[in-house]
Amino acid sequence: TTSKDALVTSGLGVTYNKFVALADVDLNIRENSVHSIIGPNGAGKTTLFHALTGRVRPSSGKITLGGRDITNLSDNERVRRGIARSFQVTSLFPDLSVHENLRLAAQGRTPWQALAMWRRAESNRNAMATADEMLTRLSLTRVAHRAAGELAHGQQRRLEVGMAMAARPRVILMDEPTSGMGIDDIETMKDLIQGLATDHTVLFIEHNMGIVMNISDTVTVLRLGRKLVEGPPAMVRDDPEVKKAYLGNM
Ligand code: ATP
Repeated sequence: TTSKDALVTSGLGVTYNKFVALADVDLNIRENSVHSIIGPNGAGKTTLFHALTGRVRPSSGKITLGGRDITNLSDNERVRRGIARSFQVTSLFPDLSVHENLRLAAQGRTPWQALAMWRRAESNRNAMATADEMLTRLSLTRVAHRAAGELAHGQQRRLEVGMAMAARPRVILMDEPTSGMGIDDIETMKDLIQGLATDHTVLFIEHNMGIVMNISDTVTVLRLGRKLVEGPPAMVRDDPEVKKAYLGNM
């Protein structure tokens, strides 16, 4: 194929004490694709994200981002290289407005860098323009000047995605982007994720199978820390091993 890989893991493994949480995982996340990770409880989905972001150290294997080895880089260095994670840690400044939050995020790739640049942000036209553009994509124009802490749940989740996007990362990791949402917010999030793939690569963990099957280019199924099946949604959905792993819950 002609498409490039944004993020690649080979033989990735994570062990907690002696417990093997992730073993021998090979992933090729294509640039500008929407790639979902699914699997029953304890499959190792969160552990995989921790390994990719540098929160846990792999016990084996290798991770490359745009062809560069990042296996031994710190979490901050990975953020700087373009790995953004949304939802695991709420990164909003609740007292600042939606627009201000986006401007801050557009200034730096971590909240701390951003905060240090706050004074400059006041006069930075680029950050302003980025924030304006984001509001539309996030469907948050109407609430642009409300404090982030006052937004409804679905709006806050979209703002969190926007803050991850504002730094223009290569890859955005999302933990269950639709959890706890009503139907309307789920639809909006679905459109947002699909739109993201035009200029980002999206890797997400999701329990809502409707979403997974609807918007993923590729689905990876993990079970007991190993890759069980991988492929386009229709193939994964019909795979007998996957059906067995979910005991008919799909
Ligand atoms: P869920 O869908 O329930 O969130 P998951 O697929 O995200 O599950 P992980 O959270 O990655 O799974 O956990 C994988 C396995 O590793 C589980 O059996 C879990 O109990 C174990 N585990 C996770 N974190 C630790 C830790 N810090 N120490 C020991 N074991 C851990």
